[in-house]
This record gives sequence, C-alpha cells and structure tokens, in this order.
Amino acid sequence: MVKAIVGANWGDEGKGKITDLLARQSDIVIRFQGGANAGHTIINDYGRFALHTLPSGVFYSHVTNIIGNGVALDIAKLADELEQLQAQGVPAPRLIVSDRAQLLMPYHVLQDTYEEQRLGGRAFGSTKSGIAPFYSDKYAKTGIQVCDLFDTPRLQQRLTTAVELKNVLFAHLYHKPPVDPNQLMEQLLSLRERVCPWVGNTVTFVHDALKQGKTILLEGQLGSMKDPDLGIFPMTTSSHTLAGYGCVGACVPPTAIQDVISVTKAYSSCVGSSAEPFVSELTGPAGNELRRRGGDKGEFGATTGRPRRVGWFDTVATKYGCMVQGATQVALTCLDVLGYLEEIPVCTGYEIDGQVTRSFPTTPALMRAKPVFTTLPGWNCDIRGCTDYSSLPKNAQAYVDFLEQHIDAPITMVSTGPRREEMTYRTARL
Ligand code: GDP
Repeated sequence: MVKAIVGANWGDEGKGKITDLLARQSDIVIRFQGGANAGHTIINDYGRFALHTLPSGVFYSHVTNIIGNGVALDIAKLADELEQLQAQGVPAPRLIVSDRAQLLMPYHVLQDTYEEQRLGGRAFGSTKSGIAPFYSDKYAKTGIQVCDLFDTPRLQQRLTTAVELKNVLFAHLYHKPPVDPNQLMEQLLSLRERVCPWVGNTVTFVHDALKQGKTILLEGQLGSMKDPDLGIFPMTTSSHTLAGYGCVGACVPPTAIQDVISVTKAYSSCVGSSAEPFVSELTGPAGNELRRRGGDKGEFGATTGRPRRVGWFDTVATKYGCMVQGATQVALTCLDVLGYLEEIPVCTGYEIDGQVTRSFPTTPALMRAKPVFTTLPGWNCDIRGCTDYSSLPKNAQAYVDFLEQHIDAPITMVSTGPRREEMTYRTARL
C-alpha cells in the first residue's frame, strides 16, 4: 500500500521529520516531484541533516529510496548529498534513480538566474535552482532523460537541439554569453559515470513491490499553496505538490494510495517573494520573535538560509490545503514553538471586499483578503519533547481541537520537537 506525506501549506511544514519517522515501518520511500530547491531538515541519532534531493528514508538500511521520474534531477547535487551523508557516518543507502527522470542542466540554473534579474522587482522569488526552466523544457519536450545519457549519439543530438534554443534566448533576451554544447557534453559524460550505479527501471520495481504487498511512502516537496494548478499561481513552484501527482511522478496506481498524511505547522511560514499574499502574516518584533523560536533553529530556509515569513495558523488556507491533498489524516508539527505565548490568534476567515469567507479564493481575491482572527488562550509552558498527548496542558489540547474543527481533517499526530522521537499520537474527533 502507498502512503503519501505531503504539505498542506507553503512548504517547510516538517514533512522530512514525519517521513523519517514513518520510514521505519516502510520498505520504499519515493520523491516524486520538485528538485533540490527546497530542503527537509531531519534530526536523528546520526545528527542534523538538510536533505534536498535524497528521500528521507536514507537513514534506514532496510529502505529502498527512489528518485522518481517526476523529479528534477541535479546529478552533481545528488552525488554531493550522498557524500555528505557518508561523511556524517550514515551507511550508504539503497538508492534507485529512475531512468525516466529528467536532468536539471546548468543552462536551467543560468536561465532561472537571468530571468529573475530581468524581472527585477516583479521577480517570483525563485531559489534560482533552475526548476521553472527545467519543467518548461520537460513539457516543451526538449528535456533530457537519464536514459538518454546511455545513448551517446542521441544525447548529443538532444543536447544540440536544446542548446540552440537556449543560446538564442541568452544572446538576444538576456545579453549573456552562449553555452558551449561540447563542454556540456563532456560534463554530462562525467555525470553519467557518477549516476550510473543507481540508475534503474523504477516503474517495474514499484509495481512489483506493490504486488508483493510492500509499503511505499511518497514524500512530497513544498505544499498545496505552491501547486501550479491549485496553489497561489503564479507564486507557485513548477511541479505538482499534491499527493495525486504521485501517481505520475512516482508511477503508483491512483487506487494504491490509501493514506494521505497532510503535514501542517502549528503556525504558518512561507518562503518566496514578498509580493505573495500571506494573509495571516505576523510582522514587526512579534514576527521576529516567532521566526527566531520557530522550527529547530529558527525559520530560515534549509536550502537558501533566507528568513521565512511567519504568521498565525491559517485555517482557511489549511482546510483548503488538506482538501486538495485529499488528506486522510493530519500531522501537526511545531506545537512546542508556541509555548511562550499568553494568547494565540488563529486566522478563521478572510474578509474580502467587506464579506467574510472561509473558502480559499483565487489569487486576485486573495491579494485583497484581510485576516479575521479568533484568539485562543496559550498554555504558556514548555512542552518540548512530550510523547504522551494526554499529558499536554489542557489549553494545548484545546488549541489542537480547535484547529481540527476548523480544518475539517483528523489530526492524528502532534509533534513536540524536531527530533524523531518527539511525537505524540492523538485520537481524532472527526
Ligand atoms: P519540510 O521541508 O516540510 O521537511 O520542512 P523543513 O525541514 O524545511 O522545516 C521544518 C522545520 O521544523 C525544521 O527545522 C525541522 O527540524 C523543524 N521541526 C519539525 N517538527 C518540529 C517540531 O515539532 N517542533 C520544532 N520545534 N521543530 C520542528
């Protein structure tokens, strides 16, 4: 059976921690979308890790980790990440890279960087990892698959075609030097050597595993709000962040996904452009304090180090985020972070043009939305590391009950710290 672990919000909800925890009882963990443009922070007995491309099952020797065909694969970054794991004492993981995954090329990074420069103040806040040009090329059918690396004439021909297009753009739109296809070809041939030991037919592997009754985890990157169809377009990413896309990006049958665990934090955080609407945002000194106390080392991007915007829990966005994921259960993380507050506002509605709504709107209306808050009492004590839900302070439990009612999805896990074991389990009331 297949379980998906996905984000209900803007990303950085703590999916890595939940995947690392649940991988213990799983056979396979698959990354099915996105690239190295976001990171999952994991803290376990081996230390603290920021994984960008590797699935969060790499800490268990019994787990097979798969880079699915839907991923934007930067081979050099993948190899560096594996080396880093080994340097920190983690045994070499079992890994298979789909022969159908496509390659994130150096010209994608250049194009992303040049385009953000060109847009100036209108930029999307890209991490400049090349993700948008990568997916554009995939759908324009000029991308290069991992399997192409093993057919040199075909690789040469596909590379020539792709570079011709890029060089027109680089010369005439961005006024930048051209890319040299011969140099790129040499680079690809050496990357081929690095990736070769891991490449495999993951489609057959996954279907065989399902026939044998194995448990598969799909690990999402970013969250519902960043989905290009159902998120806050165009301040989205360029791949689908929804569990449903796992059917394509990991090649699991739609009927095999039996559990969708939507992860959400006990407050909100958002990375990307400051132009993105973020209705429940908390700014000023109170925002700085929440940012400083958030996550395991403050709310700063695991890949970029950029400060994340923070805000109060947003039930309008999260209810929608869980709905579009098809959440069967919800993992609420970072409850411990709020222990310093006397009172905790929760966004329970959006006021748009004088009307209050609980439905998440499209982007133009979202830009005009103002938050409607309900303030709950805090618990004002340190609950970090608690592993027994019933021993949490009454106000902390009441806060979770309130969120569950408002997001209309069952909260079954409540995390009380960044470490693997800092977790409580709750009987949902819905
Ligand atoms: P992901 O991309 O969804 O895996 O999330 P990130 O790893 O980017 O961000 C989540 C942050 O929250 C990381 O710094 C985690 O170590 C941290 N974290 C996860 N769960 C908890 C929790 O329950 N409490 C605290 N304090 N930090 C947590």
